[in-house]
Amino acid sequence: MALSGIQIYKLLPQTNCKDCGYPTCLAFAMKLAAKQAELALCPHVSEESASKLSAAAQPPVRPMALRSNGFEVKAGAETVLFRHEKTFVNRPGLFVRVRDSDSADAIQAKVRAADAYTVDYVGMDLTLDGIAVQADGGDFAAAVQAVRAVSQRPLLLFAGAEALKAGLSLLAAGEIPLLGVADAENWQEMAALAKQAGAPLAVAGASVDALVDLAQKVKEAGVADIVLAPAQRSLLGVLKANTIIRRMALKKNFRPLGYPILSFPGDWGDPAREAVLAGQAIAKYSGFIVLDHFAPEVAYPLLVLRENIYTDPQKPIQVTPGIYEINNPGPDDPVLVTTNFSITYFSVANEVEGSGNKAWMLVADAEGMSVLTAWAAGKFDAERIAKDVKRFGVADKVGRKRIVLPGHVAVLSGELEEELPDWEVRVGPREAVDLPKFMKQVLV
Ligand code: SF4
Repeated sequence: MALSGIQIYKLLPQTNCKDCGYPTCLAFAMKLAAKQAELALCPHVSEESASKLSAAAQPPVRPMALRSNGFEVKAGAETVLFRHEKTFVNRPGLFVRVRDSDSADAIQAKVRAADAYTVDYVGMDLTLDGIAVQADGGDFAAAVQAVRAVSQRPLLLFAGAEALKAGLSLLAAGEIPLLGVADAENWQEMAALAKQAGAPLAVAGASVDALVDLAQKVKEAGVADIVLAPAQRSLLGVLKANTIIRRMALKKNFRPLGYPILSFPGDWGDPAREAVLAGQAIAKYSGFIVLDHFAPEVAYPLLVLRENIYTDPQKPIQVTPGIYEINNPGPDDPVLVTTNFSITYFSVANEVEGSGNKAWMLVADAEGMSVLTAWAAGKFDAERIAKDVKRFGVADKVGRKRIVLPGHVAVLSGELEEELPDWEVRVGPREAVDLPKFMKQVLV
């Protein structure tokens, strides 16, 4: 939890000597609170105060990253309990788990499918993030090798210390997997291994208190990046544990719980239940999520849910304003106007493209808002549309100058005719789904 200017002031010498370049200690404290100055500018601050201030400046949920061969999965760095307060920062990594008791062929078939899965969602390619390898009485190193033969994505490695050592020896230099899961019995050797490998270590505990205890021990053993794995597996249990952990980290600045959370929806066994638990883990504070089943029809809603929760609510998803071609249009094809809010753009583009109609699409700069919202906010009017027609050289692309306004802003048609006197201004349907019919029947 960040300290206020007054709290910082109380930790400063309060002599107003000006050596920091500010007229008073209070002025300097205010700048520190606003993160516009560095504590090092004050040469007189006591060691005790300096360590308190630098501890307070640490993010409440420790940021960390798993890496492999050009891939990266970041976690932590969250500062709010609710997305609308500011934004969530790092999308929880979704990992598909394989077990070393399975054959190499079975492991590779599952990993190949999960690794290759990608889906286009409003112009973004969404994918899963990596693979979890679980010791289960088989040859752990052979399982890691089988995975690495078909996927280069980051790994979660779950085994005892000896098997982990063998698995780690197969990874490329610079790879950072997550190791786990340390418990009250094995934490010393697991911590030593994680420290040596420079990898984050997951710790498990039957209760939040047990997690706190283990996280502190592992930290004292020299592991900086810790991941908390609560033992709870039910919907209510996971919700309670994850919420307590995150509340304590953010609201009480309680450092032993200021780490990303690891969840195991796959432990349920039932794929439907697993999907529900994974959805809950995405919504409520997990940083790494382990799935036991991979199916595109489950991966898709989870990825879309994650995208919607982790986009910044203050920044709409936008496409770049410009003139876009749909189905290779020619000079006789119409110009359809819309705004640069991604969902609006893709709704229109997908309908027209799917229907086989040809069109030019003028995506006007409406600051990423949808048609009605932009119009109401004064960001989508005839003057702006006419400006973008000129800015993007639309007249050079068409012989027959026909421009189609979205039906929701039919009211702009008169003004647009004045702005673009040599254009035929038409009013299209309100909904994108009606565009193909409109283009075939009306726009001839
Ligand atoms: S240098 Fe330190 S003691 Fe001097 S005014 Fe600045 S904050 Fe206060």
